[in-house]
Amino acid sequence: MVSSSKLKEVSGDNCCSVQPKGKVACPECSKLAKGVLEKTFDALVKEEAKSKLSCMSDFYYCKTPSCKVIYFRDDTILTQQDMKVIVGLKDGASPATVCYCFGWSKEKIVAEIEATGKTMALEDIKAKMQDPGCACEVLNPSGGCCLGDVGKAIKEIESIGKLS
Ligand SMILES: [Zn+2]
Repeated sequence: MVSSSKLKEVSGDNCCSVQPKGKVACPECSKLAKGVLEKTFDALVKEEAKSKLSCMSDFYYCKTPSCKVIYFRDDTILTQQDMKVIVGLKDGASPATVCYCFGWSKEKIVAEIEATGKTMALEDIKAKMQDPGCACEVLNPSGGCCLGDVGKAIKEIESIGKLS
């Protein structure tokens, strides 16, 4: 848990540029994180957390499962409690959502494999990406397409036969 005082705004010369470039190391786990679009951040962060920030640009998204940090900019850190959605790739997340646009979670994939012997998650997502289309930029915390993560989750589930 991060105290609200950690959400204090940090002034910096690079604040409020349009889109973060390159990768920046997470202050918590030191893994390199990709920048997120302001509209992704705006759509997924709670109003209360946003109200403490001077602007919503230049945030980076930490994908490390064991790291509590979700978005960060310099020493401003946002965690699950600041998010409108459960960030499925973090350890202990429930549901462990992998596709935010069409509601696929690891739990749902496991249930489908148990019921039918296989999962149609990828096929379902690909079909729905064509029609009605996806909205990853404002639904997925990464701001990007989930297909890579879904493929990885299916392999992981098939290799262990159950949720870890
Ligand atoms: Zn991290």
